Amino acid sequence: MDLQKDIIIAIDGHASCGKSTLAKKVANKLQYSYIDTGAMYRAATLYALDNGFVKNGELNKQELVNNLDKINIDFRFDSELNKSLTFLNGKNVEEEIRTMRVSDFASPVATVGEVRRKLVALQQIMGENKRITMDGRDIGTVVFPNADIKIFLTATAQKRATRRYKELIEKGQDVKFEDILENVQTRDRIDSTREVDPLKQAEDAILIDNSNLNVEETYAVVMAIIIERFGEGLF
Ligand code: C5P
Repeated sequence: MDLQKDIIIAIDGHASCGKSTLAKKVANKLQYSYIDTGAMYRAATLYALDNGFVKNGELNKQELVNNLDKINIDFRFDSELNKSLTFLNGKNVEEEIRTMRVSDFASPVATVGEVRRKLVALQQIMGENKRITMDGRDIGTVVFPNADIKIFLTATAQKRATRRYKELIEKGQDVKFEDILENVQTRDRIDSTREVDPLKQAEDAILIDNSNLNVEETYAVVMAIIIERFGEGLF
């Protein structure tokens, strides 16, 4: 049994299948840091929207690329909320990046190679000292191809949209189920077919379909995989 202690856990997969909830729970258990890379693409998207780089539903990629060095994204831990919050140019945007306005343009923004190069470089720095769980679309394939554990999470689009719908309604957002289903399917399509770092399962990733698993069950499956590979040495 491998007794190496500091590892990187990469969690990739389709939109809205609970990657961040899972990555956060695993990080808490191991006392690791958790990095939500989707939040970084969402923050870049918010910048593009707020600065008029999206006109008539079209993203002006060149304008975004020209202004890339004005986009500063970081995470700050809020001890009262006991969670890490996303900051864009010094402003807390944690709530705003989860709105449908941002969700609708996150995937087009994430197709831009220059945006990816900037965010991937940042993510690699964040993981330099290991002891991290990171979720996204390209963590096991591009950001950390040598990650110690790679999970690829999926579920049917109907299940994923239903979960996301409940979540947003509970937060008081005025959303329609059909719009969420369409958003989830469109994001998957754009993410999987883009030229730069497309969403795909790494060859050495473990596939988990959680269509019929709840949060706790999904977490239990992943913890069993971690313990099988690394034993109790990690705790
Ligand atoms: O994970 P989340 O759904 O919040 O991510 C928002 C969008 O950011 C995704 O739909 C995807 O287009 C993009 N993304 C990406 N690569 C990552 C993380 C997110 O392309 N590593």
